[in-house]
Amino acid sequence: MGKINSYKHIFFDLDHTLWDYEKNSNEALNELFLKYKLNSLGINNCEQFTLCFEEVNRSLWDDYNKNKISRDGIREQRFLRILSQFEINNLELSEKLSTEYLMLCPTKPHLIPYTFEVLDYLKANYQLHILTNGFNDVQKLKLEKSNLHTYFSTVVTSDSAGYKKPMSSIFKYAIDKAEARKNESIMIGDNLQTDILGARNFGMDTIYFNPNKETHKSSVTHEIDCLSQLKSIL
Ligand SMILES: [Mg+2]
Repeated sequence: MGKINSYKHIFFDLDHTLWDYEKNSNEALNELFLKYKLNSLGINNCEQFTLCFEEVNRSLWDDYNKNKISRDGIREQRFLRILSQFEINNLELSEKLSTEYLMLCPTKPHLIPYTFEVLDYLKANYQLHILTNGFNDVQKLKLEKSNLHTYFSTVVTSDSAGYKKPMSSIFKYAIDKAEARKNESIMIGDNLQTDILGARNFGMDTIYFNPNKETHKSSVTHEIDCLSQLKSIL
């Protein structure tokens, strides 16, 4: 039995909300670190490599969300910038790392704790959807390899929609595709700007997933630090 509310459609962000980006990415980076013996090139340990990746990647994705860089731009720049931080100037290596990371990372299956438990609980009473700023091919692979794909009626990526969160156009596109109404829909995500502010400006209720309990001043309908808490809201 679900709670009494007017929601029929739940829209989930994917990366960092259900799919454990950090864990999956670190696993892929570890494998590449060993394969290409990056320690022999001056990167002392894999932790330095993964920390540098996180920093560079976050900054590139912030730029992507603000339309300052394209999908191909991220792919070209990511490992070039990381290697250059370790004073390694090797375009060929950077291209190899970029290609192999893109192939490897989306095949990793690790999910945020309680993902399956919560989706199994919710699917009985709601239609579930994915709304992500990721790329079509990559996000599809992640959903399949982690066995998430069977839970969702629709999957909208910024790639397929032609708009990205926080633009209202992508929320409109997503609810139209889901044949939903915004007053019976709720958005769950970890990003205050793209997921929460975007949905709120569009007129949708929101659940902010804040696992690190970061302080903020944004207006959210609900806030959780563990996915299991969704059971007391929905
Ligand atoms: Mg996210």
